[in-house]
Amino acid sequence: MAEAVTETILATMKNHFGNASSVHSFGQTAKSIIDAARGKVADLIGATPQEIVFTSGGTESNNLALRGVTGRISTKKRRIIVSAIEHEAVLKTVKDLDEQRWSISLVPADSDGLILPEELEKMITSDTALVSVMHANNEIGTIQPIKQLAEIAHNHGALFHVDAVQSAGKLPISVKTLGVDLLSLSAHKFNGPKGVGALWIKRGLRLSPHNTGGRQERSRRAGTENVPALSGFGVAADIAKQKLVEHSKTIGNLRDRLESGILSAVSGTVVNGTEKQRIANTTNISFDRIEAESLLIALDLEGIAVSTGSACSSGTLEPSHVLKAMGLSPHRTQSSIRFSLGLGNSQKHIDHAVEIMPRVVDRLRRLSFSGLRQ
Ligand code: PLP
Repeated sequence: MAEAVTETILATMKNHFGNASSVHSFGQTAKSIIDAARGKVADLIGATPQEIVFTSGGTESNNLALRGVTGRISTKKRRIIVSAIEHEAVLKTVKDLDEQRWSISLVPADSDGLILPEELEKMITSDTALVSVMHANNEIGTIQPIKQLAEIAHNHGALFHVDAVQSAGKLPISVKTLGVDLLSLSAHKFNGPKGVGALWIKRGLRLSPHNTGGRQERSRRAGTENVPALSGFGVAADIAKQKLVEHSKTIGNLRDRLESGILSAVSGTVVNGTEKQRIANTTNISFDRIEAESLLIALDLEGIAVSTGSACSSGTLEPSHVLKAMGLSPHRTQSSIRFSLGLGNSQKHIDHAVEIMPRVVDRLRRLSFSGLRQ
């Protein structure tokens, strides 16, 4: 988290314990803190504060968008289209809706990890109620052509939701320019606290709430607000808005240094996903003849935290659904790791990672080769 975010959260925790729904002055102070945060989050995406519903993060925002829209559709439309490379918070949610008799279609990604507008055009029909495509992918960083995709959805009378959890605070976003109806974001992706996020709901669009109870968030999400976390969310949004270009340039330079360093120092490496249309902090690299999980552990021992971008469930390594959807071979999907950079990284970190990488990879390759001969 940014230092100013931590400081704000601590100060709010210490000094402002009121419940924002209370009428007394302690409550009203808490409410004014939430209102200020709402204004800053709205500003980050070019929205109005009334359109922002605070949630517990990106997962809940996606759930509220998908369940909220489908819970309210009164027409005979029964189809939802989402991309094949969505985060589980979208994929699992629509799968759950599927069981409630919604028909779900997956729009494919190409080998660069892009969702092409013509693919959506081919599969969309007049009975489509909702299309949901993420702005930037969390595993490979590819930025999708949201404006064109939303236009196609609207031309067929469907609503458009965008999961902007990976792009908000990193790319300049205007909900008006994107032309979408619903947008999810999460504070911890841009130096804010975990467990807090927002759903932007275009003015006039009604959703059925999935948290019912009190009248918080204009009856769109019941429950007493986490005032300290929201105060930190507001500060993170403010910093992101002011420093977005500068931060993404700094982080992008480090990412490029890391990527080109690894590609030239380690043989049998290749970047996954297009390098042209990507958020600045992500690179996903395949290491030939390496099991991703072993590399993750070996790097962790060296103090370098990476991710395989896939879930390791009950001891079985699940290949990434994103890389699979791009049509990559099993040996490439199972040998890929993701490096995500942030403001806490320096050139020293990058140079250290590039320096140790050939040794670590070489050792793993020799181990797996001797394992094969036994
Ligand atoms: N959507 C995307 C694209 C993500 O990358 C993530 C988290 O990594 C989420 C949704 C879930 O957000 P949260 O962790 O705030 O629940």
